Order: sequence, then structure tokens, then C-alpha cells
Amino acid sequence: MNQNCTVCGGTEFRNDKVLWSKLSQEWELNEHEIDYIDRQQGRCCTGCGSNLRSQVLALAIMKSVGYLGVFEEFVSSPAAGGLSVFEINEAGSLHPFLNRMPGHHFGSYPWYDMMRLDFPPCHFDLVIHSDTLEHVDDPLRGLEECCRVLKHGGLCTYTVPVIVGRMTRGRDRLAPSYHGTPDGVKKDYLVHTEFGSDAWTLPIRAGFKSVAIHVLDYPSGIAFAALK
Ligand SMILES: [Zn+2]
Repeated sequence: MNQNCTVCGGTEFRNDKVLWSKLSQEWELNEHEIDYIDRQQGRCCTGCGSNLRSQVLALAIMKSVGYLGVFEEFVSSPAAGGLSVFEINEAGSLHPFLNRMPGHHFGSYPWYDMMRLDFPPCHFDLVIHSDTLEHVDDPLRGLEECCRVLKHGGLCTYTVPVIVGRMTRGRDRLAPSYHGTPDGVKKDYLVHTEFGSDAWTLPIRAGFKSVAIHVLDYPSGIAFAALK
């Protein structure tokens, strides 16, 4: 991949191994899938630390508003200045950059539960989350809430890990599986949904009018931009 970092413009990357064998087994990943999920989470810009997941999310946000450039400049640009933004849980390495936007509002679990957002309808221009939806009990309900708090014409831009060669499955009847780290089991890292190639249908079912899919080093970097 010869793409510069979309967050800082950096050109050097390191590749960390992120998945551990127990998680890969629970997720029933083959070698190819392990490789591209490792790149998604572990291919990081040495300049700003952004992995492919954060980089593709930055790309999706900038493309949605027609900005051509890098994310660290976008957040202080006039294009970003007028946007009211709600970031649900820290959106990977984008959090400190999003924090610089004048209209930025941040809320994290458990104070902010995606299924019950304490905002009036039609409040934000942009709702952002990253690798959170797979941990929400009812992801359809979560996206319905994101849609509700967005203005008409607003966007919900997010990532989830997607295994592109299979369909989405719920894990609630399977053995518990946790993201995070092998030794750091936290209840909010419990996986409820493993997303597959039909992941784009969920925002449509939640009431969004259309969904754009942005990619970087496909199938490692995939981000959704759902339009209300
Ligand atoms: Zn970077």
C-alpha cells in the first residue's frame, strides 16, 4: 500500500500483531482474515500512531464533506468549524484531533449508552464511532438512536470490524468473546455482533437514506458513512 497516512500525511508504518489465537478461534477466522484484521488494527503510522481503522474513518469523514487533505489540518479548517459533532467512545487515534473541533461533543460508555442517547432529535451534523457497534446489545437500536439525534442531511460515520466473506452473525448464543487484550477482559468489550458483508444493511434498516462505504487497503480498512 503506497498511501500516505490520512491523519498526518506520514509515510512510514509499522505492523503490529494484534489478534491472539483464542480470539481468532472464537471468531473462526482463517489465515487470510487474521492477516487483514491484524492490518486493520495493527498497521500504524509511526508519525501519529493511527492504525488503518482510524485512517479510513478519517478518510470517510473528510470525503463526506468534500475535504481534500489530511485530518489534522481538516479539524481546524473552516469546513470543520461549523459542524456539531458527537463522538461516542474514543474514535481510535482520532479523539485528540476531533477534540480540537469547536463543535465537538464527546461521550463514552457507560455514561453515554448508544441505545439511549440523551439528546433531542436533529441535534448534530456528524455522529462518529469506531469499533463500538459490535459491543452494543442491540446494534440496530444503537444506529436508530444515532439517526434520531442527527439533523436531516447529517452523517453517521463509523467503523466496525467486517469479515467480508461471510454474513453478519450475533454471538449471544455462542461462547463469550472479548476484544481489547487477551488478559484484559472487560464486560464492555464483550462482542454481541460479528459483522459480515451485509453490514451495510443495518444503517438502512435503522432509517438512514443511503450508505457510502469507504476503503483503505481493502479489506483491512472499511468505514461506513450513513446519510440521514
Ligand atoms: Zn499519521
